[in-house]
Amino acid sequence: MLSDKDILYIRKQFPILKKKIYKNPLIYLDNAATTQKPIQVINAIKKYYTTINANVHRGAHYLSQIATNAIENSRLKIKNFINARYSEEIIFTRNTTEAINLVALGISNFIKPGDEILISYLEHHSNIVPWQMLCERTKTCLKVIPIDKEGTLKWEVFEQLISVNTKIVAITHLSNVLGINPPVKKFIKKAHTYGAKVLIDGAQALSHLVIDVQNLDADFYVFSAHKMYGPTGVGVLYGKKNSLEKLLPYQGGGEMIKNVTFEKTIYADIPYKFEAGTPNIEGIVAWSYAIDFIENIGMNNIILYEKKLLDYITYMLSKINGIIIYSQYIPRIGIISFNISDIHPFDIGLILDRLGIAVRTGHHCAQPIIDFFKILGTVRISISIYNTFEEIDYLYKAILKANKMLKK
Ligand code: PMP
Repeated sequence: MLSDKDILYIRKQFPILKKKIYKNPLIYLDNAATTQKPIQVINAIKKYYTTINANVHRGAHYLSQIATNAIENSRLKIKNFINARYSEEIIFTRNTTEAINLVALGISNFIKPGDEILISYLEHHSNIVPWQMLCERTKTCLKVIPIDKEGTLKWEVFEQLISVNTKIVAITHLSNVLGINPPVKKFIKKAHTYGAKVLIDGAQALSHLVIDVQNLDADFYVFSAHKMYGPTGVGVLYGKKNSLEKLLPYQGGGEMIKNVTFEKTIYADIPYKFEAGTPNIEGIVAWSYAIDFIENIGMNNIILYEKKLLDYITYMLSKINGIIIYSQYIPRIGIISFNISDIHPFDIGLILDRLGIAVRTGHHCAQPIIDFFKILGTVRISISIYNTFEEIDYLYKAILKANKMLKK
């Protein structure tokens, strides 16, 4: 179990945490939007530009070779981190959103009218809109797995919705609004009995859970570096080798070809077939330092610490008059959403901001779930390994202050 001293040591690795916001110490509780970056990741970007910078895969020269090795090492590190079987199952994208779009476009040739796509009520817009666009293009039908009032996916309705017409099931591993963690393995197993492929949106899961894509048996698993202490502008599409090989390339251009003539182009093998153009080399390289950071602490230590911290937040919030916590009665991971009486969440967020506390307010790019609760939005607290119990005490007092100021 991590001690206070360990957390202090971890915090020292994040230069931004020393920053003052309106003369108050920064309390960063918007980690579901993006996590802060440890110095190792920041330094890796500088080191890349001062000692390696060259384009990859093309030049036969020394620096190009080093840059190529560096991104292939990152690919290997990510493969091991999520326990993929092969390195070529790791496709670099810009982010989770691009990874989902890649699959939604890549499978369009295999979709025929009458086929169905199944998503859930819990999804982020990134795991809704690309499928809607696919349905519009292919004249297919989008179906949605409903939830109960706590946010649990309704298994019995899923069993009714899934059929041999279902081509893909796309669901989240961890809700960015409610912090709940659907039993995706069970959904994957059932979907496979109908021959459907399953895409899991792991954007929120990677920094809070141990991910084993082979154990999950997911066909596709997508995530972003910036939500797991890595840089922005880089993400991954993991796909089972045979599933990826069947996808059409998402973009055409350099790097993704074996041979080009004006008559015909022969595409490269995976992963390069899906990596057209110059990638975010420094981002990919620095990402591996973020993975080292997580592995040095140990994911199981992170899970234990974050659980204790979130339990404490839940306990403290529960003491506040008029508080409404969403999904109060089921286990949550890393994220908690709330409202207080009929106070607008933006107003609470604004006062917290003035006190140096960064939270997110609004619909969190997941409007259907907010509509489901018939609310305008929520205040969302999302934690990370560098947050402390003292910060939560400060947050509690700040919310009380906001509540008092805003009460009519
Ligand atoms: N899915 C979920 C569950 C998310 O929380 C987010 C980011 N908020 C995304 C997808 C999109 O991630 P990105 O912006 O990195 O593409």
